[in-house]
Amino acid sequence: MADMAEMTGTASMAGMFEYHVLTIGQFSRNCFWGEDDGRAYRGAVCTSTLVKGAKNIVADPSLPPEEMAAVLYNRSGLRPEAIDAVFVTHAHGDHYVGIECFPNAKWYMSATDLEAMLASADGRERELAGRMIPASPGFVEGVGLLAAPGHTLGTAAMLFDSADGRVAVCGDAAMTRDFFRARKGYYNSADFALSAQSIDRLAEAADIVVPGHGNYFINRRQGAGI
Ligand SMILES: [Zn+2]
Ligand SMILES: [Zn+2]
Repeated sequence: MADMAEMTGTASMAGMFEYHVLTIGQFSRNCFWGEDDGRAYRGAVCTSTLVKGAKNIVADPSLPPEEMAAVLYNRSGLRPEAIDAVFVTHAHGDHYVGIECFPNAKWYMSATDLEAMLASADGRERELAGRMIPASPGFVEGVGLLAAPGHTLGTAAMLFDSADGRVAVCGDAAMTRDFFRARKGYYNSADFALSAQSIDRLAEAADIVVPGHGNYFINRRQGAGI
C-alpha cells in the first residue's frame, strides 16, 4: 500500500469498493478507427461510473438528470438520494451533464479545473462550479486521487481498491484502451507530452482503468502486487 500512500497522501485504504459502469462512452472522432481529427462523426457521451462502498460515488454523470436517475436505477437499483458524492474528472461539459441529478451529494473536481470553470464566460458553468468542492486525496474515505494533467491541466483520476484489484477512473486522461496503450492524448488535449506522462503514471497505479469514453479494461502492471 506504500505506493498508494505516497501518491495520494492517504494513510491507508479504508475498505473496498465495487465499480459499475453506468454509461459506456462514445466520442466524436476516433483516430484508431481511421477517422480524421478535423471533423466530428458523432456526438459525445462520456463513460459514467458508480463506485459503491461505505459511501457511494458517481463519477462523471453523463446524461441529463432524469435519464441519469433512470440509468442509475436500472443498473444498480439505487435512487439519486443514495449517492453521497459526485466526482468530475475534469471541466468539460460532457462530464457533468447530469450533476444536478444529485442535489444532495457533495460535488468534487480538481482545484485547477474548478478555477478554470469559475472563470468561465458561461453562467451555468460558473453556477455549477460555485457548488463544487476542490477534490483532495481521501475526499471520500478510502479513495485516492491521482493528478493526470494533459487533457486539461487539472484532469484527475480517482483510485480505489476493488475485489478485482486497484481501479482508476481517469476521465479523458485516457479516452479508451487504444489511447491508453498508445500513450496518446485526444485531439483536443491541452498538452500531449503531459498526457503521455499521466498515462504512464496511471499504468503504474492501476490494475483496471475506467477511461473517459470507453468501457473499462485491464492494465497489467509490471511487478505489481496489491
Ligand atoms: Zn474532456
Ligand atoms: Zn470527455
